[in-house]
Amino acid sequence: MQYVLIGILVLIAVLIGIAAIRTLMIKAPATGKCETVITPEETETAAKKLGDMVRVPTVSKNEDEDLSEFYKFHEVLEKSFPNVHKTFEKTVLNGTLLYRWKGSDPNRRPILFMGHQDVVPANDHGWKCPAYSGEVIDGAIYGRGSMDCKSTMYVELQAMEELIAEGFVPPCDIWLEYAINEETGGDGAASAVRYLKEKGIEFAIVIDEGGAIVDRPIAGMDREYAVIGVTEKGYMDLKISAKGKGGHSSTPPRNTPAARLFAFANEIEKKRPFKKHLIPEVYEMFGSMASSFSFGMRMLLGNIWLFKPLLIALMPVVSPFGEAILSTTCCFTMMKGSDACNVIPKEPYLVANLRTSVHQNCEESLAVLKKYADKYDLEIEIIQARDASPVSNIHSKEYAYLTDCIKKQFPDVGVAPYVIMGGTDCRHFHALTENALRFCPVRMSNEQNAACHAVNENVTLSALAEGVRFFKEFVKGYNL
Ligand SMILES: [Zn+2]
Repeated sequence: MQYVLIGILVLIAVLIGIAAIRTLMIKAPATGKCETVITPEETETAAKKLGDMVRVPTVSKNEDEDLSEFYKFHEVLEKSFPNVHKTFEKTVLNGTLLYRWKGSDPNRRPILFMGHQDVVPANDHGWKCPAYSGEVIDGAIYGRGSMDCKSTMYVELQAMEELIAEGFVPPCDIWLEYAINEETGGDGAASAVRYLKEKGIEFAIVIDEGGAIVDRPIAGMDREYAVIGVTEKGYMDLKISAKGKGGHSSTPPRNTPAARLFAFANEIEKKRPFKKHLIPEVYEMFGSMASSFSFGMRMLLGNIWLFKPLLIALMPVVSPFGEAILSTTCCFTMMKGSDACNVIPKEPYLVANLRTSVHQNCEESLAVLKKYADKYDLEIEIIQARDASPVSNIHSKEYAYLTDCIKKQFPDVGVAPYVIMGGTDCRHFHALTENALRFCPVRMSNEQNAACHAVNENVTLSALAEGVRFFKEFVKGYNL
């Protein structure tokens, strides 16, 4: 017995020793300095053109609604990017824009850069300047859509504009796509995919918004990271209702429908019953990020082979992000009782919003909730559901090319794959490529990240200039 105990202790000591040595050997991926010098001309161009784009309030619309703001926006694009409009073929599908620049070799698979034209609504309340003014304050351009997603459109279009001016001809076709209802999950991007599918077009690589260069994306890190979204979680809204007899609240029975709903919600929130799992891409993400943490965290993240169970147990406790990246999440967002203070509701309900994981799809996540719902005699109805997108291959040559370009253009930042918690139009394009990647080469601070869809959305002018340079170099060096 004693020998077994000593044996176990020796084994633990050896494993920790190996982990410690491996930790000491983890090298920082990005030690370079960014030497890029941005010229006043570049920032002035960004301020002028993106400012004009922001000043058109292109709030998301369905295809059958009034699209006049979008058509005004198209005119702004025509004025700001004349070379693109002379050189690219443009197709407008109910407001959604598709552009094609013919490459020199028709046998090469085309590439697609995308984003979206629409923005979420904004009023001026709490803003430093009117929400659609596109004003420049302290080197940043403010306004709804300045970051999400007109910054992406600007850096892509301006890069193409400058490449054409330089006389460049791409080896393969380059396509651009910008829908009018990404924010509302409308049909724009899906209609573009149908159009392209009919023409038999498939892409070597598709690059959309979603990832960016984020300042210390996880607390405790010491540098900016370029995060590339390789998949996005699924989405499901559920209506969970309880039936009862109703009646006067002065003589309440036990176990009223509302109480059963609350007990259910409480149990789900406490137990968080979904499967926690590290998919290989998240494994890779932590591996690439390990070096930017202090020794303890570096040891944990750099030795997942040893600490995986500990990591899976700790992450959900440490932060909501840590949980969301490991499993399906469930959040109760809406509720309805009776219409009066003194009436027991007959059929109150809760709405739960789930973000389903790659490893536990909508059907499986629903089955988990159903077990608990049965216990409280509740009914579940699906309002809407879509599974997580496929996962793009992080070992493809296209992914490697993108990361190489990032390392060249932004030698001071780390690079890692990432799981998108929200949704982007990019998910539709998995049907047309094995490499649907979400990355906009624009630096953003945590405040700027938080200001998307909120007040004082803004983007730094020099970051836009860097983004333009990135896409130019990406296209110039592309030879796959
Ligand atoms: Zn967006």
